[in-house]
Amino acid sequence: MADRYLVEPNVEFIKDVIGLGGDTLKKCFQCATCSVVCPIAPENKPFPRKEMIAASWGLKDKLVGSMDIWLCHNCGDCSTMCPRGAAPGDVLGAIRSYAISEYARPKFIGKAVNDPKKLPLLLGLPVVVFLVLGLITGLLDFTPGGDEIVHSHFFSSWLVDMIFIPLTAWVVVVFGIGLKRFVNDIHENAVLEGKTDKKKLEIGGFMRGLFTVLPTILKHNKFSECIENKDRNTAHLMVFYSFIGLFIVTNIFFVVLYAFQTHGPYSQLNPVKWLANVSGIALVIGSALMIKNRIGKTDQVSSYKDWYLLWLVFGLGASGMLTEMTRLAGIAGLSYALYFIHLIFVFNLFMFVPFSKLAHLVYRTVAMAYAEYGNRGFIMK
Ligand code: SF4
Ligand code: SF4
Repeated sequence: MADRYLVEPNVEFIKDVIGLGGDTLKKCFQCATCSVVCPIAPENKPFPRKEMIAASWGLKDKLVGSMDIWLCHNCGDCSTMCPRGAAPGDVLGAIRSYAISEYARPKFIGKAVNDPKKLPLLLGLPVVVFLVLGLITGLLDFTPGGDEIVHSHFFSSWLVDMIFIPLTAWVVVVFGIGLKRFVNDIHENAVLEGKTDKKKLEIGGFMRGLFTVLPTILKHNKFSECIENKDRNTAHLMVFYSFIGLFIVTNIFFVVLYAFQTHGPYSQLNPVKWLANVSGIALVIGSALMIKNRIGKTDQVSSYKDWYLLWLVFGLGASGMLTEMTRLAGIAGLSYALYFIHLIFVFNLFMFVPFSKLAHLVYRTVAMAYAEYGNRGFIMK
């Protein structure tokens, strides 16, 4: 049965997609080469041709609530083969950016994250929070003294947790609210477009889908199916696993602090410290490679949102490693300053993760789980 839509073009949506990197949108003449060459598009209603026409018509609801925009891994194969020089990979990337801003509330934060003029404000916010809370509680000491450099003597671990535990709760709530709408939307859209055989959304089946797709995500198999941007795979994997490593380390040290009252710094012989160091190095190298790849890809559009995330991740890794190195070298003042800067980056990454491009980690995972559950034909391997 043909899809039936009341065509209500949203001109603002078209302008926003163009502004987010989809500026080649209007070049498309619907030849469908892109859908044929896409290595991961399902056979039933493949992408990205249909997304190109929907975007040029301004069909915002059809696109923002579509699982298919998330199944695309932005490999660029379609953009290379497009006879019109349109870049469907970039258009889908722009629609994903738009969708993140739509699902993450409050919307004004998403707008600030996408606006380069607001960057000083975003970086200044944690500084104000740290100083105000630190000085009120007395947990921030600018003259820590002592022979040994201990970062928690300068910026107490209690202060870190006082700030970052509520921040974690914030991230969970913002994602939770956004994902509830997102899952309902992609299901509704899939039923309407005949991309699923499930009429009703069942949480149990969806969770089974999630467990099935996890190995595919952990191995980045879908990235390896791409040709054009294959080199992106290694860098992406390094950053991905470094985040997992640092997440594990943070949780172990959190438990050690509260269960055994053991504060850092921890011995370099400690295996958890090894994991921290390896993850930190992988984060710096992986993000540096991603920046290098982006700079080298002159045919691929890089929006402010891309650069914001890449430099933030690199800054996070580099400031963390430099904090550690200056501590070991005994350069106290510099090490404390770098630790403060490191915490600014951590705060930014946490506070704004549901609004930044990094949110793709969550939305793509959910879309892939739904694709598996709904029998989209997006084969996991
Ligand atoms: S290959 Fe290019 S022109 Fe052809 S449908 Fe895809 S985007 Fe449009
Ligand atoms: S960028 Fe790659 S994954 Fe995305 S639609 Fe194009 S070919 Fe397919």
